[in-house]
Amino acid sequence: MRLDRLGLRSFRNYEELDLEFDPGVNLIVGPNAQGKTNLLEAIAYLGSGKSFRAQRTSEMVRFGADFAEVEGSVFSQERHQDLRWLLFSGSRPRQLYRNGAKKKTAGDIAGVLQTVLFCPEDLMVLKTGAAQRRRLGDSALCQLRPNYEAALGEYNRILETKSRILKDRFDNPAVEAILPEYNARLCQVGALLISYRARFYESLGKAAAAYHGHFSGGAEEFLLQYRTVSTVSDPFAPVAKLTEDLEDHLRSHFRAELETAQCLTGPHKDDFDVTLNGLSVKTYGSQGQTRTAAISLKLAQRELMKRESGEEPLLLLDDVLSELDPSRQDFVLNQITGGQVFITCCEPGRFTKMGKTIEVYKGKII
Ligand code: ATP
Ligand code: MG
Repeated sequence: MRLDRLGLRSFRNYEELDLEFDPGVNLIVGPNAQGKTNLLEAIAYLGSGKSFRAQRTSEMVRFGADFAEVEGSVFSQERHQDLRWLLFSGSRPRQLYRNGAKKKTAGDIAGVLQTVLFCPEDLMVLKTGAAQRRRLGDSALCQLRPNYEAALGEYNRILETKSRILKDRFDNPAVEAILPEYNARLCQVGALLISYRARFYESLGKAAAAYHGHFSGGAEEFLLQYRTVSTVSDPFAPVAKLTEDLEDHLRSHFRAELETAQCLTGPHKDDFDVTLNGLSVKTYGSQGQTRTAAISLKLAQRELMKRESGEEPLLLLDDVLSELDPSRQDFVLNQITGGQVFITCCEPGRFTKMGKTIEVYKGKII
């Protein structure tokens, strides 16, 4: 897949922009705070209806404007397609158009324009907290499996309600009576999440191991292990069995949850660990090993998406190349020759020879 053209109106610090892209490498350069990441955000949003940085849609509308427009021409699924979003500064719901026809949800354009974002925080993801690893896994899996995304959304809604019940119980003990109903549903949907994750992490781990092995010249054996609720002995077991496992764990933590008013058990605590030659990266990994393993994970994510749709997703590298030493830069650049890539950096340095260079200054292209 390929993004041929992007148009922005009142998006972030862009008043008006029309930009054509190279089918290969696009280098977006400029000093800090000029709009480089905003451009990547617009590209990712165009295809997914999701922002990797905004909490609310209205944040993306240029200060003082009533609405923003993000539109572009894509070549994918063997044809040209136009996508267009209108985002409003107030409470009015956003609008989506595909080839001029109004669409209801982002699900209606699933697979048209897929992106993989790689930013400097991702480089340390194997060292930092479980929440970041979960976010990385979930965002990849959501793009691959729309049904997973729906299940995750439902799980989070139930979890939120349960949390509220646990807190309200101190003032109103009667609410405790509805807890079993929520717990039962939580285990059912939670089991589904575990089932998806087990399969996803297995494929991700295998693909990443190949990249890492290649990069370390075969010296380091990369192994990814998915970690979930302790009563789950086999995350590949049928969903009914997983549901029972989750119920067991919940039962043994029921009192503790009431006492602490917190949801202590369930796949919202899941994590994964990567070992190199049997040693956990989290505990023992050097800077270089940690970064290389993270690069392998990102390249693996891109590969899984490509395998699934038969098309190479766009790779968005936000400031990440400048964080890498030349040998890692070369490794990344050699692995991404196939598809379309957008690279932001402050100092173009050695990359200018490739593809198209786009200079951004104060929300304008110069
Ligand atoms: P860096 O190199 O530091 O990462 P950048 O070029 O990636 O910088 P961006 O993150 O794209 O910079 O943001 C550029 C500017 O956009 C920021 O200064 C921010 O104030 C501005 N900005 C963000 N949202 C809006 C908005 N809704 N309206 C107007 N300007 C905005
Ligand atoms: Mg930036």
